[in-house]
Amino acid sequence: MLLENRPRITNLWSKVVDGENGEWLSRVIVESTRPYEYTLKEVNGSILLECSGAEINMPEGKLEINDGLLREINIAQTGHDTVRVQLSLDHPAMFKHAVYKEFPSRLVISLDRLFITGLLSGKKIVVDPGHGGKDFGGRGQVSLLEKDVVMPIANNLEKILKKTGAKVTLTRSGDKDISGEERATLALNVNADAYISIHTNASADNSVVGAATLYAPHDNGSEKLAIYIQEEIVKKLKVRDRGTAGQPGLARMDKGIPAVEVEVVTITNIVEEVFLRGLTIQERAAEGILNGLIKYFAFDRLNAKGDKK
Ligand SMILES: [Zn+2]
Repeated sequence: MLLENRPRITNLWSKVVDGENGEWLSRVIVESTRPYEYTLKEVNGSILLECSGAEINMPEGKLEINDGLLREINIAQTGHDTVRVQLSLDHPAMFKHAVYKEFPSRLVISLDRLFITGLLSGKKIVVDPGHGGKDFGGRGQVSLLEKDVVMPIANNLEKILKKTGAKVTLTRSGDKDISGEERATLALNVNADAYISIHTNASADNSVVGAATLYAPHDNGSEKLAIYIQEEIVKKLKVRDRGTAGQPGLARMDKGIPAVEVEVVTITNIVEEVFLRGLTIQERAAEGILNGLIKYFAFDRLNAKGDKK
């Protein structure tokens, strides 16, 4: 067969979508100039698409996804006319696929996100946009205030948590100054399964950058939750990893509620202040926190307070 006649895979991407029947899906789209022969199967927690009679006409290698279910996609030319697309999953998922033969041709793989809704449905999550009112928190060199930027991140987190079926309570909806005691009382009153306080870091040294996650000291659940969230937020935002540490201020939550304070990035650094104003970081920060929560409830669910009756 002439080289020019061979179907070429030209594009590959994924997104989280709502299905036609109300399902919540991770969807992968493989675009090509024409349809090709293929097999699709699950192998050790990965989904393998083996294409034959096709060639790649796009960059080969790894595409990081980190949507809470789908970790990454690898595409490689494995022979002169064979191509392998491997979807690596963080959690098990059922999948379906369909082929659309118009130009460009598309092979669409839809993975259900039931594992995530199964873990988080009914969980009571308190989301705390830090500061408010007269207490504006950190301030960027240009003018951005911490209390203003943590709000859209909290709203995004509330929105994606609701998709999982979690019950979300925000500590504030407007520009109000609430005391630490009031925030803690609220979390204790709703008997929260997790308390997520959203902040940015501030430093007198304006070269300091990066994200950190703080936890209620001497509390195992809080520390584990912080480690997972920190890992996932750094993956999502690609910022410096400032690690995790105890935060004495969260100790008042130390009655079995896993409590963390996420310092998304550092507002006092000019580059990160500009970054913080973007809608992308405000969404990705929320996604990173959600991914941390998923891992926490997936890997620690036997010990998690979420299993209390
Ligand atoms: Zn703060």
